[in-house]
This record gives sequence, C-alpha cells and structure tokens, in this order.
Amino acid sequence: MELIALDTNHYRQLLLERKRELSGRIKSIDRDIRHEDLSADWSEQASERENDEVLESLGISSEEELSMIKYALLRIEEGNYFTCAECGEPIPRARLDLLPFTPHCVDCAEKSER
Ligand SMILES: [Zn+2]
Repeated sequence: MELIALDTNHYRQLLLERKRELSGRIKSIDRDIRHEDLSADWSEQASERENDEVLESLGISSEEELSMIKYALLRIEEGNYFTCAECGEPIPRARLDLLPFTPHCVDCAEKSER
C-alpha cells in the first residue's frame, strides 16, 4: 500500500507541474492572440493572422490536455488513477510515464480512436 501512495505522489507531482506549464502557456497564447498591432502593414497582418491560427489550435490542444490533467488529478483523489476508466484493468506504469493524464489502458484507448 505504501508503495502505491508513493507512486501516486510521483504522478500527482508530474501532473501538477504539467498543469502549471499548460496554464502559463494558455495565458500567454491568449495575450498573443489579442495583440492589437495597428502599425503593421498588410503583409505583416496576414502573416500574423496565420500565426494566430497556429496559436489558436495550440491553445485548444493545450486546453484539452489541461482538462484531461484535471480529470487525472481527480482520479488520483478518488484512488482509481491506476485503473482504466473503461474496462477496470490496471494501466501499465510505462504508459502512465508517457501519458500521465490518460484515463485508459492501451486497448481501450485504441478502441476509442477507431
Ligand atoms: Zn481499458
């Protein structure tokens, strides 16, 4: 049991760090998108708009990851972080090391992607 508690702490730290990083990134993306650069000429404005689209999709994927992280933290609090939300099988640690926010084992994740 103690080992599991230590593991939980490890992943909680990982998730909290990532959450901080993402929150900071989302804030700075918001700032960048709202820039009002009236002095820029047409070609600059066009490339800024393109840049905004990239920023926007980056912002969206960051927000998606952030909500998955919040969900994972909730699962840690509930004590079912190491269990697949779909089939109830344990999620391998190697998978959680790569994707600490995933609520699914490999099988279920592949099924939902199809
Ligand atoms: Zn599963």
